Amino acid sequence: MNIPIARTNLTEAEINSVLKPLHSGWLVQGPKVREFEEKWSSFTGSKHSIAVTSCTTALHLSLAALGFGPGDEAIIPAFTWISTANVVEHLGGRVVFCDIDLETFNIDPSQIESKITNKTKAILPVHLFGLAAKMNAINAIAQQYNLWVVEDAACGFGARYHGSHVGTLGNTGCFSFHPRKAITTGEGGMVTTHDGQLAEKIRRLRDHGAAMSDLQRHLGSRPYLLADHPDAGYNQRMTDIQAALGSAQMDRAEDIVAERQRLAASYDQAFSSLDWLQNPAKLQGFEHGYQSYPCLFQPERAKHAATIGDAKEIKTVNEARNQWMDQLQQQGISTRPATHAVHMLSFYQQKYRLNPEDFPNAFAANDCSISLPLFHGMTEAELDFVILALRNAKF
Ligand SMILES: *Cc1c(COP(=O)(O)O)cnc(C)c1O
Repeated sequence: MNIPIARTNLTEAEINSVLKPLHSGWLVQGPKVREFEEKWSSFTGSKHSIAVTSCTTALHLSLAALGFGPGDEAIIPAFTWISTANVVEHLGGRVVFCDIDLETFNIDPSQIESKITNKTKAILPVHLFGLAAKMNAINAIAQQYNLWVVEDAACGFGARYHGSHVGTLGNTGCFSFHPRKAITTGEGGMVTTHDGQLAEKIRRLRDHGAAMSDLQRHLGSRPYLLADHPDAGYNQRMTDIQAALGSAQMDRAEDIVAERQRLAASYDQAFSSLDWLQNPAKLQGFEHGYQSYPCLFQPERAKHAATIGDAKEIKTVNEARNQWMDQLQQQGISTRPATHAVHMLSFYQQKYRLNPEDFPNAFAANDCSISLPLFHGMTEAELDFVILALRNAKF
């Protein structure tokens, strides 16, 4: 058996949906983008959705539209995909890392306030792997210090927080349609916001700063006149080919989420007796979207080592985890570290002169986490194979 960490799952109808824009000749940000955006708003409960080229550009546009600029500081969790930090760099800002909580892998709200300076402008909470960050606490701090909240909801499809879909809780939410995420357009992203003026600004910035999109111009009375450009914008438009694919998947959005939750529930049950593995957190009021199934290997040891700052012990657990990943790979089961600690990557380590121990929980998550295969269309045989391999493992 050969079980990948994720496998793209598209129906024939979804695959064929890309032919429509190709036949129609309208390839870039036209009717299909608008349709995808409307379905996205209706699924998430966001007033506005703006399709873009990736989650990274969604984050970048959000910060740019809010007015984040040179010298401004943004607080981000130390354990996340690198682009949460990169967009701050791209805008000339300063990345301020905050440690995470090892139960959830998300930013630890109790550590945010100590990171705030008179230059802090934004908090970028990340809903990692489909579990919402603790948004009430984060929003309370943001309100007190007058900070923007840009949610990195790249993995957040289907993730709800006390009934609200993630991406609707801050100034903007940013989603990814990379193939590792639950809905894919190859590359692609979406910004969600309740703020109409901000939505307009983001729409302009993604489209060279144009006051009016091509579609609006073509639907208007004088399609032959060009739009004004009030901003020096970017080109971060989604193609209609991608949007057709995204829009088609939205017709089974509930199924896609339910399938991931069902697979995760099987894992949860099968692994509940393994004291050497911590399953993804289940919290009251949080509905997990399970973009992936992130676990902590040897959780007692990893957490204790992080608490007392024992780097050597984290490395010992790390070696055991890597050996185990090796064994699983030999059995045909692909796994991955859940994600990386950005402060340990050489650009950030060098620029900000950081040590792994500066954010000990992110360090432990980097070295001791493991994601197991979970994807829509995973067969019962594949699921059972993974479960059996873990139950037979001895630590
Ligand atoms: C996948 C991911 C991104 C990047 O998304 P792209 O669409 O590839 O730009 C950003 N942040 C997190 C947390 C992610 O998981």
